[in-house]
Amino acid sequence: MTTSTDVSSGQPGTQPAESHPDRLPYPIGVAPRKILWPYAISNTVYHLLALLAFLPWFFSWTGVVLAWLGLNIFGTLGINLCYYRLLTHQGLKVPRWLEYTLAVLGVCCLQDTPARWIAIHRKHHQHSDEQPDPHSPLVTFLWGHMGWLLVENREVNNIATYEKYARDILRDHFYFALEKNFLWLWINLAQGVLFYLAGLAIGWATTGQYLEGVRFGLSLLVWGVFVRTVAVWHITWSVNSVTHMWGYRNYDTDENSKNNWLVGIVSNGEGWHNNHHAEPRCAAHGHRWWELDVTYRTIRFLQRVGLAKDVVMPSEKLLKKLAAGKVMATEKGW
Ligand SMILES: [Zn+2]
Ligand SMILES: [Zn+2]
Repeated sequence: MTTSTDVSSGQPGTQPAESHPDRLPYPIGVAPRKILWPYAISNTVYHLLALLAFLPWFFSWTGVVLAWLGLNIFGTLGINLCYYRLLTHQGLKVPRWLEYTLAVLGVCCLQDTPARWIAIHRKHHQHSDEQPDPHSPLVTFLWGHMGWLLVENREVNNIATYEKYARDILRDHFYFALEKNFLWLWINLAQGVLFYLAGLAIGWATTGQYLEGVRFGLSLLVWGVFVRTVAVWHITWSVNSVTHMWGYRNYDTDENSKNNWLVGIVSNGEGWHNNHHAEPRCAAHGHRWWELDVTYRTIRFLQRVGLAKDVVMPSEKLLKKLAAGKVMATEKGW
């Protein structure tokens, strides 16, 4: 096993274990030619609709602001805080009404229902950068980034996987209901209608022109939903792809996870992925002073106002190792 350079010097550079493979084949259950059409079509359509943002007719500053706010509200609260740190890793507890509200924000990111998202992410932790990992970039970067979403993987798309990795989620009536009757899809359609109608009403009322109302409504739809959704997709996917390829390591975990400052900043804290793999349940992903973790700051705020409790902190053992510049090997799990 490769030893670390001195991580306490501010020059972290722990290398992954020598035994770790450089490349991986597809997971065994993958049928590369069997396209999952609902994913392929929605993925393509959303990217094309997001490109409408380049046409001046669809531009409005309100739309741009909504896209940015949406990154933080839907992406950070819905995916980072709820899907990731709360539901998958149980790094904190919040009141049930707040948990469900945050989960709906996550559903609005069109990244699968909580049960499927969480099952896949837990499987990733158990087999990180090994062949069963659903999205290791050691297959190819593009596979780890988005290719894995678009083709059949029998090891993921089966009841046993849900039973094994997301039983706790499916036992909850609310999350089970999201799976039935395409409720997750209706929620996504409803947010699009709401953005459009709000823009239509405001644009029409402020200008007195119906066509201006339509233009403003479509601008909010394109920027506030399509641009935002696609941006959050690529940010989440970068955590799967970029941070398993490039960056530095604070901990000698037994996979290829890295801390990547660019993903760390853009994703509001998910880019400190090597820290996360070292102790997956820990609600704080930034372990050094410069590893800004806006999601964790948000959790601390919720804790301060009494809306979060049992927040899991880095263990003393982990922090001592980090301070002493020692490396550690961790066991896979979530
Ligand atoms: Zn990972
Ligand atoms: Zn995780």
